[in-house]
Amino acid sequence: MSVMRPKGSHRVHTMTLPAATGRGARELPVHIVKGPKPGPTALITANVHGDEATGTGAVLALVKRLPELLTSGTVVLFPTLNPEGLSQRTREVPADNVDLNRSWPGDPRGGPTERLAHAFWTEFLRHDPDLVIDLHTDSPASIPYCIVDRHLKGSQRLLKKAETLARATGLTVVREYPRVRYVKYQLERSLSGAVLNTLAIPSLTIEAGPKLFLDPASVNTAVESVLGVLTAAGLANSPAPVHPTRVDGGPWRRESGLRVGQAGVLITHTQPGEAFGRGQLLAEIVGLDGVQRERLLSPHKGIVISLPERTWVVAGIAAGTYAVLEGD
Ligand SMILES: [Zn+2]
Repeated sequence: MSVMRPKGSHRVHTMTLPAATGRGARELPVHIVKGPKPGPTALITANVHGDEATGTGAVLALVKRLPELLTSGTVVLFPTLNPEGLSQRTREVPADNVDLNRSWPGDPRGGPTERLAHAFWTEFLRHDPDLVIDLHTDSPASIPYCIVDRHLKGSQRLLKKAETLARATGLTVVREYPRVRYVKYQLERSLSGAVLNTLAIPSLTIEAGPKLFLDPASVNTAVESVLGVLTAAGLANSPAPVHPTRVDGGPWRRESGLRVGQAGVLITHTQPGEAFGRGQLLAEIVGLDGVQRERLLSPHKGIVISLPERTWVVAGIAAGTYAVLEGD
């Protein structure tokens, strides 16, 4: 028996974005790849934050490779959800400087960002998705990781499904902030939060690579992690390798602990991916006079996920993003 390579189809559909979300109405390509057999539909979105470019590179690489790799189902890919932010290198949507990732599912009568979110959300629903993967990037001093949102109604079945898919990325998996802060930070209005909480289908956020430029290794990590999720969802047969930075154990949750109390130079004593113990010195703040202003000791045991992309810090800045044990 000869082994047949799956041969899927790729077509490009053009959607029109509402006016006033940039320089007037704008056409945007949406890629639709179909496998040779019917199956679930996955949406892959990138660049909600216009300065986070790795996902855009990953989507374009996936568009090339998926027709050969998809065994069944449909994958709909959006290279950017924030085209003006991509061209102007801004996190927010430039028209009103609002964070698109706190604006889902959008509002057709709202401001430019709300209208943009609504236009995309309408497009997402047209494809009747079973799964959404949203691609972001953290700082250049970060391990790649996958975030699972909180389901505010607390469906254990849905969360288990999302966590199984998250593990298939091959990356470190962290749950979002605890419920009270999840709501306070409006994370149910992030894209993956709105998908999980409104549509009740699994959604994942993958954070991989530096901002603003395409690092080939990071793009590859994002591509492999997406293929791993598609494999776990039954659409492909390309499991993700376990990433060398992956930290097992947990369950972990995201923690942006240790707010700086004094202005000064942030000197960190840990690396992304490094485990630390309770009471360990994670960073110190030193004045330009060389005098130590503050010592930041961890109240938790955990792992360093990312360090901020800045050297001079002021009161209130988080000294890093960590993963700590759920319940700690
Ligand atoms: Zn982001």
